[in-house]
Amino acid sequence: MRTVYVNGEYVPENDAKISVFDRGFLMADAIYEVAAVLDGKLADFPAHIKRLHRSAGELGMRVDVSDDKLLTIHRELVRLNEVDQGMVYLQMTRGAADRDFAFDTDKMTPSLVLFTQSKELLDTPVATKGLKVITLEDKRWGRCDIKTTQLLYPSLAKMEAKKAGADDAWLVRDGEVTEGSSNNAYIVTKEGAIVTRPLSNSILPGITRATLMAYAEETGTKIEERTFTVEEARNAAEAFISSASVFVGPVVAIDGVQLSDGKPGPVATKLRELYIAETRKRLV
Ligand code: PMP
Repeated sequence: MRTVYVNGEYVPENDAKISVFDRGFLMADAIYEVAAVLDGKLADFPAHIKRLHRSAGELGMRVDVSDDKLLTIHRELVRLNEVDQGMVYLQMTRGAADRDFAFDTDKMTPSLVLFTQSKELLDTPVATKGLKVITLEDKRWGRCDIKTTQLLYPSLAKMEAKKAGADDAWLVRDGEVTEGSSNNAYIVTKEGAIVTRPLSNSILPGITRATLMAYAEETGTKIEERTFTVEEARNAAEAFISSASVFVGPVVAIDGVQLSDGKPGPVATKLRELYIAETRKRLV
């Protein structure tokens, strides 16, 4: 049984308790972060904490815990649960109050929950076989740049993809791809440039995206931050996704149209290797 962290205590997962009046539970008034664990250490940790503060700031949520304490909790959970590869999930909510659309943040104590998931991250079917995606209308709210736990639509989109025999959904607004259900989306042009949507309220500023783009730039790869249509994606040389738990995942089909002969493309494969090698040097 795992040990999880709930509001100041490390407890067995079966004994963990949160109020039924918690606004995270009632209103999805909650933010979260997922940091990968490699070699028993944390990947891109400072960037995840920075984004947590940004999400809290955008929602007027207090962060009552220090960054040092958050690092300590992450490390303690990794140690207690003997995680070598996997992730640490962190969720912070505005706290508990009698159910009401109006709220007073100052009168509430934010809830903080963290738990680990052990999972193979390196030698995965996604890495060797790639992912098939379908495109679906992006029906999420207008602040997709905030990492909130309002994940019902992305979750339904993922199920829709599974039902269609694919692995994931790429979401589309006004004919242009925003991002994947839980990852950022990229295509590679026939000239070898990486194209990904610029940051805005329509997508999550992925930590993996930022790190990956910096590494790619260092290797001299051309990056075009611009929107792209479904049509352009289906005709691209390659496509891939990025997220903290997948790193780089090659996309081998979009809406049943094969890309790079239905196999992970060379650019995505190289980026995946680069990301893993560089990240491993910077674990904390
Ligand atoms: N977009 C969405 C909608 C996501 O849910 C995620 C992962 N949580 C990402 C992008 C990728 O972000 P990161 O690289 O920080 O995991």
